[in-house]
Amino acid sequence: MKYVSTRGWVSRPEFCDILLGGLAPDGGLYLPESVPTVRRDELDAWRHLSYDGLAFEILSKFITDIPADDLRDICARTYTADIYRHVRTGDDPGRIAPLHWLEPGKLGLLAISNGPTLAFKDMAMQLLGNLFEYVLEKRGETINILGATSGDTGSAAEYAMRGKSRVKVFMLSPHGKMSAFQRAQMYSLADGNIFNIAITGMFDDAQDIVKAVSNDAAFKAQHCIGAVNSINWARIAAQVIYYFHGYFAATSDNVQKVAFSVPTGNFGNIFAGYIARCMGLPIVRLILATNENNVLDEFFRTGVYRPRSASETHVTSSPSMDISKASNFERYIFDFVGRNPAMVTKLWKDLDAGGAFDLSSTPFFARLPESVFVSGKSTHADRLNMIQDVYEHYGLMIDPHTADGMEVGKHYASRLPVDVPLLVLETAQAAKFADTIREALGVDPEIPASLQGLEALPQRVEVMPPDVSAVKAFIAARA
Ligand SMILES: *Cc1c(COP(=O)(O)O)cnc(C)c1O
Repeated sequence: MKYVSTRGWVSRPEFCDILLGGLAPDGGLYLPESVPTVRRDELDAWRHLSYDGLAFEILSKFITDIPADDLRDICARTYTADIYRHVRTGDDPGRIAPLHWLEPGKLGLLAISNGPTLAFKDMAMQLLGNLFEYVLEKRGETINILGATSGDTGSAAEYAMRGKSRVKVFMLSPHGKMSAFQRAQMYSLADGNIFNIAITGMFDDAQDIVKAVSNDAAFKAQHCIGAVNSINWARIAAQVIYYFHGYFAATSDNVQKVAFSVPTGNFGNIFAGYIARCMGLPIVRLILATNENNVLDEFFRTGVYRPRSASETHVTSSPSMDISKASNFERYIFDFVGRNPAMVTKLWKDLDAGGAFDLSSTPFFARLPESVFVSGKSTHADRLNMIQDVYEHYGLMIDPHTADGMEVGKHYASRLPVDVPLLVLETAQAAKFADTIREALGVDPEIPASLQGLEALPQRVEVMPPDVSAVKAFIAARA
């Protein structure tokens, strides 16, 4: 499989060549040259595979430059019951991405948040860790991953890279701004290749330092600085797997199609669902749920894509969806405008100049009603109500992001054909967001038994001022 850039870069690299990098040299995002399709007989055969077996079948369509035996081994080491054991009390810890029916055959929760950090980022990041290790070993290279996090992505990256001999992680976080549970998750890691740096400032200060270091080409090259950002194609490919898995769990001889509702920020998760559908998975609806930061809902309703400024970006109670622009959206727009790189380049030039783009009067937008997407927005009040509702009716605590997915999903559920179940992706567990759970329910969320005592473990973190040269010196001494 060759990969192309959304902006038309002429070289067509293979998977391992794009794995460790970020953007294509022309500033675009990588996509497979053509989306591989799945035959009906393959789909039937895959139904009975284990999660790692299914992962191998799907990934081998996107990754053709790793020998099959090696890829199979990577999948077997990535998708183990032990890594995804952080389940709610009473749940079976032996199953990966289990489906919980709330209303049998009608409404289900697909639990993709049972990994080490209790958010779905683990589903892809754990694979990325093993792929990085494999490719670096083959090439005799090392990498120093530098990132800034306000919670989910940084911890998922650390748990994926811990103990990997050719990888070090330098993760900046805003000092004192994360929840006690999130701090404990990151700072209790004792692995020698993980470095937590708490910046005395806000998340944006940490992010600015990462940008400044990354813009120093000489420093970057000298210390092999890399990133694990949300636009990495391998993360999308890994997320395709659970759409197939969820489909198999929800369907039978009588039920042949499904709909998914997806709490959305950077458009990575739901884009993987779109790819699954392009591959031939019978998905009738992808319901895109945003929070108050409704950039994407606005596009699907009006055809106008208008990224927000920092001051227009709301700080909400579903913080992992607090985005000002959706970094994976360019991949979808590339398809939307008929895989036209010149048009994508022009649209993003307008955006980079601080503008917006309006596709409402194009034939592409006119065809949107026939597409798989619908969208909606959920607010803080909706979120609290939905957390209460699900707790009262089904006895389950859902996290604020999943509540957004449930809110918008339920809005569209009544318009689905009767034999199409709606699966809401449970993107995180309630335990991560204790404040909002207390606000909604008046009680503390339950922490999975496997993680109780986490907050009592010793923590290791370097507190530093928001000073680029100090951070560079710290990295240079340890990279
Ligand atoms: C990252 C994240 C999201 C948003 O996913 P995207 O792929 O960015 O759309 C939703 N919920 C949770 C809990 C997350 O961590």
